[in-house]
Amino acid sequence: MASKSKFQAIRGTRDLLPPDTALWNRVEQTAHEVFSTYGFGEIRPPTFEPTELFARSIGVETDVVSKEMYSFLDAPDVSDLEEARDAVKQVNPGIGAAGKKDAFELYLHNFISEVEKGIATKQLNLSLKAQSDFGILKARYVELLGLPGSDDEDTNNKRRHLTFEIIIKTDLLKFGESVTLRPEATASVCRAYIEHNMQQLPQPVKLFYMGPMFRRERPQKGRYRQFYQIGAEILGGPDAPAIDAELIEMLMTFFEKCGLQGTELSINSIGHAADNCRRGYVAKLKAELEKVKDKLGTDSQRRIETNPLRVLDSKLEHEQPIIEKLPRIADHLCDECKTHYAAVKHELELRGVIYRENWRLVRGLDYYMRTTFEITAQGLGSQNAVCGGGRYDGLVELLGGPPTKGIGFAIGEDRLILSLQESGKGAAPQGRDVYIAWMGERAYATALRAAKNLRDAGFRVELPPVELKFGKALERASKLGSRFALILGDNEVADGQWTLKTLADGSQQKLSEQALLEYLHTQRAAS
Ligand code: AMP
Repeated sequence: MASKSKFQAIRGTRDLLPPDTALWNRVEQTAHEVFSTYGFGEIRPPTFEPTELFARSIGVETDVVSKEMYSFLDAPDVSDLEEARDAVKQVNPGIGAAGKKDAFELYLHNFISEVEKGIATKQLNLSLKAQSDFGILKARYVELLGLPGSDDEDTNNKRRHLTFEIIIKTDLLKFGESVTLRPEATASVCRAYIEHNMQQLPQPVKLFYMGPMFRRERPQKGRYRQFYQIGAEILGGPDAPAIDAELIEMLMTFFEKCGLQGTELSINSIGHAADNCRRGYVAKLKAELEKVKDKLGTDSQRRIETNPLRVLDSKLEHEQPIIEKLPRIADHLCDECKTHYAAVKHELELRGVIYRENWRLVRGLDYYMRTTFEITAQGLGSQNAVCGGGRYDGLVELLGGPPTKGIGFAIGEDRLILSLQESGKGAAPQGRDVYIAWMGERAYATALRAAKNLRDAGFRVELPPVELKFGKALERASKLGSRFALILGDNEVADGQWTLKTLADGSQQKLSEQALLEYLHTQRAAS
């Protein structure tokens, strides 16, 4: 027999398994609890969105958009085709009728029969054929608009109208729309804010999310292709420095409640995109970089042209002394941004949040402004950033919404978990409170009842599905890390006195059903 090849999780993805998943759940529960005390509500956006949403918000020149996105064409299915057919029939009900047809009607007719064929056969490749027919059809309509067509101006007007409607309707179907597995969720949250008119709610709107993100990065420790983020966004309202500070305070409280060790908060202000602020600074930075260009690596040389701020991200050792001498943004902020930054720092101090300033903490996109921050934690090696965040007042507008202030952060949950595990805060394997060792049919009925009652009372119970000799059952009980074994045989059932064995010391006692429950409760309270 030919051996079948085994499947493996795709490179850069992984299974999260017990007992680790208990820690994931604890972290997520903590996020729910802490964030809700600050007035945040949970949003669950879809995991895929139009590619254009990310291209526009993250920027086409970033690594994420240019190299790392999982994008695909979403081909239409039969229901899309039925919708297409109905759309065309609705604007031209006589389309199925026999008789002489001019070029315009012939195209409509052919398209409809192609679609009908596809609906009948449910052929997958139909969608592509239908798509291209749709394309031809649309092109033909546009062409027809420019033709003299019929001598009758009324007919021409009707056709123009028809053309317009069909183009609108077929566009709505979005055949072959490019969609992308989300590489982050800020864009989705902003899209949702606009789509659901959240600007009409009391401002600011505070939302948090958690879930998988997808980036085609080179996998390594702390870097995956499917990874998880927990994030929060504050949209609308003023850009009062207290908002920035409260968000950061919440974040640090969350990390503390999780038990994260060695956290360091770095903050910076990158001003705003104006000549008297960041743009002026970037011009100066660029001029200085040009002077030292020859001493820089190829990446940094390229960035002088594409995005000079990103040179500051460089980790190359030989570039460090050069970068240290470059002009710093703090010296080039406009008065408002300078005041805002000073007030954010003051607000952090009022809240007892410890920070350090890092003038090299920058973001490459125009809509990012003022406050940026990052948190690192111990035990993560080179991928030690557990959270990044910042203010992005221009983003909602960029996505077609009203001018709206915004600030948020995204925590790398994989790294947070990794750091907790490295510092010994991992979850212990899940044991059992009670393993029920039963023998005999009568005992089985009692065992079923006991299992149900104990589980109802919240105890973790293992009930073997087949009869086992007591010796074997006790062996299993201890392998599963059970605290007690409840022994039910003919004698126990007949006497109504059950045997409870404490596995740690091997001691045994006889208890009635009621006394057993009470005993287990007191034991649980004591542990
Ligand atoms: P970003 O959305 O790039 O600002 O990232 C925010 C946080 O998400 C980072 O600080 C990391 O902790 C985490 N992160 C980003 N990319 C990955 C990845 N490929 N694998 C694991 N965590 C990641």
